[in-house]
Amino acid sequence: MEKSIEELYCRRPHVVIVGAGASRAVMGKSCPTMNEAVEQVGLDEIIKGITLQTKSKNLEDIYSELFRRYDECKDARIVMEEVLYNYFSNIHLPTTLTIYDLLILSLTEKDCIVSFNWDSLLIQAYNRVEKITRNRPQILFLHGNVGAGLCKDCMTFGPIQNLCPKCGTSYERVPLLYPVEQKDYNSDIFIRDQWNVAKDYISRAGKVTIFGYSAPSSDKEASEILKTAFSKYAEVHRLDVVEIIERPGFDANGISETWRYFFSLTNGHYSKVDSFYNSSLAKAPRRTIQCQYRRFIEGWWGRPKIQFSEQETFESVATLLNPLLVNEEQGNYAII
Ligand SMILES: [Zn+2]
Repeated sequence: MEKSIEELYCRRPHVVIVGAGASRAVMGKSCPTMNEAVEQVGLDEIIKGITLQTKSKNLEDIYSELFRRYDECKDARIVMEEVLYNYFSNIHLPTTLTIYDLLILSLTEKDCIVSFNWDSLLIQAYNRVEKITRNRPQILFLHGNVGAGLCKDCMTFGPIQNLCPKCGTSYERVPLLYPVEQKDYNSDIFIRDQWNVAKDYISRAGKVTIFGYSAPSSDKEASEILKTAFSKYAEVHRLDVVEIIERPGFDANGISETWRYFFSLTNGHYSKVDSFYNSSLAKAPRRTIQCQYRRFIEGWWGRPKIQFSEQETFESVATLLNPLLVNEEQGNYAII
């Protein structure tokens, strides 16, 4: 049977690209930015004996220099990696519902969250919302993650505390991709595979939301890969929308050249909101692409009744989403 245009359009993934600003929105200061990490994680102590050329307090600048002065700074660099790994391993979600729980619940299995963060908060949220639904998006970690484990022999990966489902041995840590000027996204098999899957999702995306990720100009490799992926089927994005969630007061002039390139492919269709609750994810949870189709293709002026509010709890959100979840069981993705 021939598929209708609507059906084809609505099968396209919504891709959410998540950066440090998102973990920050969820956790406040207990999740440090690259600028705060050096002091907050106690890295000052490690680099005490080294005279750095950089005056910057940014982790990326400091780490890059240690990496450049390879032999001379090797010991400090290895200690720094261990301290960072342990620090990020110990960041846990509060027991109450968070924006990350809502983010997972706002998408379905055809969608994808692409994270640049080392913390495992998204994995924690993914696991605990299973009580509400198993129809959840893919999650990919393009800089590695402390919550992910890998079996190199079987090429399987999963939560670090699990055993390999094929050979039964404990998972190994996935290396974090530390900030250096020249990032090599092919050096590690886990990271390379995550990028390959991410590229496929981004190329087919009907909507891209960028949540607290500024695509720093220093990460030229990432920027180029993202742009190449989105332009693979450039002509299909003319009616798509790129959405940016940034902190209140964020200067639109600060939007990176990478995202401006995305806007050019969507014919200038983009929106900028100052909180997750004002994004399409909260305004049309689990039906973001369907809603976009009705608005852009059918000229619909309405809005979904089911929307997330800031007062949501695990109980209230389970009740709120129930009509959508019941329909999904029958393959029905109508907007309610
Ligand atoms: Zn194995």
